[in-house]
Amino acid sequence: MTTAVPLLKEREKQVYEKGKGQFDLQCDRKSVAGSVSQRACVFCGSRVVLYPVADALHLVHGSIGCASYTWDIRGSVSSGPELHRLCFSTDLREKDVIHGGEKKLMQALRELIPLHKPKAAFVYSTCIVGVIGDDVQAVCRKATEELGIPVIPVQSEGFNGTKKDGYRVACKALGTLVGTDGTTPVSEISINILGEFNLAGEAWIIEDYYRRMGVEVVSILTGDGRVDKIRKSHRAALNVVQCSGSLTYLAEEMKEKYAIPYIRVSYFGIEDVSKSLYDVAGFFEEKDPAVMERAVELVREEVVKLQAPMDRCRRRLSGKRAAIYVGGAFKAFSLIKILRTLGVDVVMVGSQTGNKQDYAQLADMCDPGTVIVDDSNPMEMSRFIIDKDVDLFIGGVKERPMAFKLGVGFCDHNHERKTALAGFEGTLNFAEEVCASALSPVWRFSPRRSQDRKGR
Ligand code: SF4
Repeated sequence: MTTAVPLLKEREKQVYEKGKGQFDLQCDRKSVAGSVSQRACVFCGSRVVLYPVADALHLVHGSIGCASYTWDIRGSVSSGPELHRLCFSTDLREKDVIHGGEKKLMQALRELIPLHKPKAAFVYSTCIVGVIGDDVQAVCRKATEELGIPVIPVQSEGFNGTKKDGYRVACKALGTLVGTDGTTPVSEISINILGEFNLAGEAWIIEDYYRRMGVEVVSILTGDGRVDKIRKSHRAALNVVQCSGSLTYLAEEMKEKYAIPYIRVSYFGIEDVSKSLYDVAGFFEEKDPAVMERAVELVREEVVKLQAPMDRCRRRLSGKRAAIYVGGAFKAFSLIKILRTLGVDVVMVGSQTGNKQDYAQLADMCDPGTVIVDDSNPMEMSRFIIDKDVDLFIGGVKERPMAFKLGVGFCDHNHERKTALAGFEGTLNFAEEVCASALSPVWRFSPRRSQDRKGR
């Protein structure tokens, strides 16, 4: 691509500006050394997926730094137990590295399981465990026999790939629980919700929509997660998968093993939430046509409530320019649609883990001049924000300081937020947050913006 942004030579093919040359973006590759990628490690990816299982014990086998890195990283609110919010570590030291950490791991499990009485335990392998070669699987097998609950190894050595590989190993760990309760009865109009992590209560909003439609939610993987619900999840009629990257592996496995079909959905924005509910209703229409009738009624009720406040936000935001940088590209599709509804132009969009198909779809959706970027870094993104004169950045915790330093509004659409952004009410929360941040008078005092004004 031709741009004023100084790109590392090895990264040039991971950036594309729509309208400039043929689309051939490279992705799904390891981060370039020295690029300061915003991506996280395999271990972090596995924690993101498994952390919300609230009645499980989460034990990080490794040095203490890994545990602090992912301790209480997300909202992942629970309606009951909160054992997930305690993060345990075997705190491996120099001597353990020399003599091995297996005994310490077994000792930790013997101490923690009787004390906290979890329904299952996840044992995460980190980089150092991969280096010293502890047989974590053998320890977990022994602990399962001795302590009477499933003790599940999560092979998540940080260096062993990217965050996306962490999703895969987390799905493998969840897969060992799925199908272990074959007796609890489940309705034939039932689903599992996959890839929803209940960061700020979103899972409850969505579950309530399905309840109103007459669809039983057997389990949510993994928001407000419970081990017993995961164990019987293979009895649901349909898997409804949100978030392109993280739980698709499990959906694929369940399709193969238990013949459960799956559909991909998004719960962000009026258009996508409505479509998701209609798609699920459509799946059950033959068995029970009333599900579709209830879905139509629900969407009508909810959309009417949003009309006036959304119009107010649109009037205030019209003509603003936004940049988006998210983990999985699937979320970006919905964000572009919501921002369009609000009259906001998207001038940069990128993701940490998108694949070729995702980026092709983004290129299709975006307006000419939009920068599309894979696995970006702060230096590149800062330049894009300045060059494209962005008013609002939508990203995660690692992008927040960048936005504030550059004097642009910011909306956290990632792990750390405290306000639900999914569903119809979440769409309004998003619009109001975007308004409050992008239009805040504080940006008048940003040195960059003041300079811009002087230069005009
Ligand atoms: S697993 Fe490895 S890369 Fe991940 S936090 Fe621990 S030391 Fe760092």
